[in-house]
Amino acid sequence: MPDSEVETMNEAVNEAVSEEYDVIVVGAGIGGATCAALLARRGARTLLVDQNARPGGKAMVGGREGGFRYDLWPIVGGPSLGSQFARVLDELGMSDELEILTPSQSNVILYRKEGGGAYAKVVGSSVPDPQTAAQVFNMLGLQPADLPETLRLFEDVSGMSPEEIDKLDQVSFADFLSGYRIPQSFLSYLGMQANIIFVVPIDQVAASEMIRVLQDFGAGGAGRYHAGGFGHMAEVFCRGVERYGGRVLLGTRVTKVQVESGAVRGIVTDAGSFRAPVVVSNTGIQPTVLKLVGEEHFDDSYVGYVRELVPSQAIMGIRYFLDRPFFEHGMYIAFSDESYLDADRFARLQSGWLPDDVLVFNTVPAFYDKSLAPEGKQCAVMGTFCAPDPDLAYAEALWQRLDETAKRLWPGLAECVESETRFGNRQVSDLTRDSVLPGQGGECIGLAQIVGQCGKQKPNAAAPIGGLYYVGCDAGGYGCGTHQAADSGVKVAALVQEQQLR
Ligand SMILES: Cc1cc2nc3c(=O)[nH]c(=O)nc-3n(C[C@H](O)[C@H](O)[C@H](O)COP(=O)(O)OP(=O)(O)OC[C@H]3O[C@@H](n4cnc5c(N)ncnc54)[C@H](O)[C@@H]3O)c2cc1C
Repeated sequence: MPDSEVETMNEAVNEAVSEEYDVIVVGAGIGGATCAALLARRGARTLLVDQNARPGGKAMVGGREGGFRYDLWPIVGGPSLGSQFARVLDELGMSDELEILTPSQSNVILYRKEGGGAYAKVVGSSVPDPQTAAQVFNMLGLQPADLPETLRLFEDVSGMSPEEIDKLDQVSFADFLSGYRIPQSFLSYLGMQANIIFVVPIDQVAASEMIRVLQDFGAGGAGRYHAGGFGHMAEVFCRGVERYGGRVLLGTRVTKVQVESGAVRGIVTDAGSFRAPVVVSNTGIQPTVLKLVGEEHFDDSYVGYVRELVPSQAIMGIRYFLDRPFFEHGMYIAFSDESYLDADRFARLQSGWLPDDVLVFNTVPAFYDKSLAPEGKQCAVMGTFCAPDPDLAYAEALWQRLDETAKRLWPGLAECVESETRFGNRQVSDLTRDSVLPGQGGECIGLAQIVGQCGKQKPNAAAPIGGLYYVGCDAGGYGCGTHQAADSGVKVAALVQEQQLR
């Protein structure tokens, strides 16, 4: 978003004391921005407030140094086609204000078998391509004897009805896979997918959530990007809020959600108070209940339930600023039989274990949109997985191992690096989600999409306080990261309309 627009949005802050709205949305992450834009479009007097100077939350386009504009961390989206983003832009009448990019030759997968050796490589498209599956099977070294079971798994997953999928809320994807005789290489590939898509272990992710997303990716591909930076989408949605008569206050931290007689009354911010009978919180269910509203407004069993909810794992990493265009593609995932993380390996990370090569997720924003880097230069944003603790004990060791892995994977990279910056859980928490419980705050997604927290067990988007709702990756939606947030934005907007605005 141009700085002038940010300034215009902020100008109004000082005048706006105790204004009355139909709905206040706290947080302009993808979930909050989607929800606010749709509610404004549908006629609600809407206020959207975010603590940061830029919208986007965990998907914010942040960097500006030296002519680079880049996502703060590696980020691409799925599905590429048929996404909620396209539908929301359409409803807002803003489809021509954001270019959705779905390039071919964009996705590189690198796989190394147990015991080391060279990585095998497949280059695929961000939209469905019948060639890619065969190439992946080849890369994984599948033998003719492996094919009948592998194909049975593909057919079962792609043909499953929504009702059959619902029955798998309480089954982990690893348990679901135990009904198929698939080789280790294919299990490692699916373990990597669970890590990349949900940032949780394959033996904890709910099979229902995984299968829904695999179906979406099968139909629509994955590896979508947005012109102007991935999170530019949130900036466009904020423009949508204003276009439909709403107000966007950036750089404004909410310190309290006011509740009287069991119902929401408004918010207190560092720039004054605002009233509304409906508050939709994008700040995370745990920070909302335990901090912004306060435990005293909920019964003990609900507070206990909220405290026990499990966050997703995290991604930390390094941004490399390169003096030449080194990478030829937009997204790289490098994994091995040793580096995808199941629950046991996540637990071992906590006690100091690291694989020789960590799983690497690398994106190159200027591949998708050349304006994101100065001519002749490139930024590569690389991440790997860890626990969500903002004060992660093994952060330094993991940054070093990521750097070593990257330089082994891409000989010649070191010679192109002009400068580098690191990102980690503390930055993610400071920018997006308050740490209100030990070890929580730096989560990559929001709540973990694991057994016990998916489908019917996902938290209800309507809180047990009149007029209070949650939006974003903790409630109301399904899918991969940003897509789950947008899906929640769409569904929570509909819920608020139905329950509060008729
Ligand atoms: C390192 C990393 C890599 C990722 N990679 C991908 C990827 O490749 N693909 C993908 O789809 N997803 C990815 N994700 C996940 C994705 O970005 C998130 O799941 C999604 O953007 C979350 O959106 P949200 O709406 O739930 O909330 P958030 O993005 O968390 O937004 C919450 C908003 O609330 C605001 N807020 C919080 N507290 C307050 C307060 N007190 N007052 C005012 N405002 C407040 C914050 O400033 C923030 O803007 C990644 C995330 C990370 C961290």
